[in-house]
Amino acid sequence: MEKQDKLTSFIKARFPYIYIESYEEDRVVKHIENILNNQLKTSREILVWSQSSGLKNRNKLISNTKSPGQILEFIKKYEQNAIFILFDFHVFFGNNHRAGDNETIRQLRDLIPYIKRSEARKTVIFVSPELNIPQTLEKDIVIYDFNLPNLEQIKDSLNRMISINTKVDSSNLSEEDKDKLCKAALGLTMQETENAFALAMVNDGKLNAKDIKVVLEEKMQVIRKNGLLEYVQTDLDIDDIGGLDNLKKWLLKRNNSWSEKAKKYCIPSPKGVLVTGVPGCGKSLTAKAMSAIWNLPLLRLDLGKIFSGIVGSSEENLRKAIKTVEAVSPSILWVDEIEKGLSGATSSNDGGVSTRIFGAFLTWMQEKTAPVFVIATANNISKLPPELLRKGRFDEIFFVDLPTFNERKEIFSVHLKKRLKDEEVTRDIKPDDENLIRYLAEHTEGFIGSEIEQVVITALCDAFFENRALEFQDFVKAIENTVPLSKTQKEQIVALREWANIRAVSASSKENTENYTNNSDSDNDITLSRGGRRLDI
Ligand code: ADP
Repeated sequence: MEKQDKLTSFIKARFPYIYIESYEEDRVVKHIENILNNQLKTSREILVWSQSSGLKNRNKLISNTKSPGQILEFIKKYEQNAIFILFDFHVFFGNNHRAGDNETIRQLRDLIPYIKRSEARKTVIFVSPELNIPQTLEKDIVIYDFNLPNLEQIKDSLNRMISINTKVDSSNLSEEDKDKLCKAALGLTMQETENAFALAMVNDGKLNAKDIKVVLEEKMQVIRKNGLLEYVQTDLDIDDIGGLDNLKKWLLKRNNSWSEKAKKYCIPSPKGVLVTGVPGCGKSLTAKAMSAIWNLPLLRLDLGKIFSGIVGSSEENLRKAIKTVEAVSPSILWVDEIEKGLSGATSSNDGGVSTRIFGAFLTWMQEKTAPVFVIATANNISKLPPELLRKGRFDEIFFVDLPTFNERKEIFSVHLKKRLKDEEVTRDIKPDDENLIRYLAEHTEGFIGSEIEQVVITALCDAFFENRALEFQDFVKAIENTVPLSKTQKEQIVALREWANIRAVSASSKENTENYTNNSDSDNDITLSRGGRRLDI
């Protein structure tokens, strides 16, 4: 038997008001019709109202009333089984910036007993692109989550479009490519999906593997429009991360955790990781590279924007962002500088909004069933609310420390290979010269990853400026001129380590950490100790 839809349960239980947040009015109405036909025994009329068109049954005008008060009066007096779908009623509800229409809100409350006690079975469904429920009605309105189209629905739509557009040549579109094309559209509304497919078709009159990019680009546009998520595309790979062996191994082991095979092993889906530590040592780099390691889309969430309320109400923002990420799943959600968004969560100077949002985010992280992996990165852990760090929230908390001697060698190697490409520029300097790499690593104790990268860039800049080939001395000078962060922010790093020793696992492997300093006479005590528990993953 088909599983009963939540909406069916709400209607059967005679909830007076149901709220559906969606742009897709047609799809919502079709979904309700579908439910009526297949899951509800009692027959009901579907009456759709909007301020511009009045009340209609399919295309037949039932009442010309455009005022909210009159339509509610109409519902009160209506004596047949019916579902009333009211479009854009949220405009009467007000929000932070705008006062609501008190009379309409009061009228809605007055209507409840009539709906409940009426012989005729009546349900009111609000359909709006924004979730906006006035506090006074919070207890009377139930929210129904109407999801964006799933893969099957997208495939149906593509097949329909292919069959209608007979002039479009889709003979080179393999089943596998078709699947990828449809997956690329996940996260879009049906209208947006169809627009993206239409665009792919009209480009060259053909539909083939190349069009996956067209659809992905359309999706990026849409995600960009909501202003909270950024679709991060990178060509970084695991080899672009120097060191951090433990963290890399951990991530590699969790690849394909959502596969059928993983299900056989009864492995729980990974929730996510929190990566904290010294700034500039590869946290963001790892988040970006993960997308390539796992071959999944990476969406960066700006929690600061969610809280700022610049783009809409905070609650609604979070819901929207989560909905998009889930629709695109399997996916990776990168919460960058999580402390910036959550630091206000424990203070109560915003009327409790931050606390509520923070709670909602944690609950989602804990209970999510969609395959979304969260990678949160944080520089300032002292600002993180303790609830976030409780066991079980994240699968693991990693601490990224100043790179060890071996790690510095690896980071130099990454950046030398990346930038020393032209023989005319590099001449005597070879990017894989072991002696050079050893020298550089030995002389950059206490440097963070980004400072190491900067040494390579500065050396190249000097050579460029003097219009000559790169020389060993350029590196020597670049190193000498760098005052590493570990010197200027020693106290902060010590504090970070103390914190990490109790709560986090070292992102570097044991082998590398034991080899931390290459210089036993080092007077630089910041390079002698390490933060985070040393485990071999
Ligand atoms: P953060 O830890 O503050 O997020 P990033 O990951 O943004 O630091 O690092 C800044 C830049 O420094 C990177 O884009 C990369 O070029 C370089 N870098 C830092 N750590 C590493 C590393 N472990 N391996 C290679 N490059 C690194």
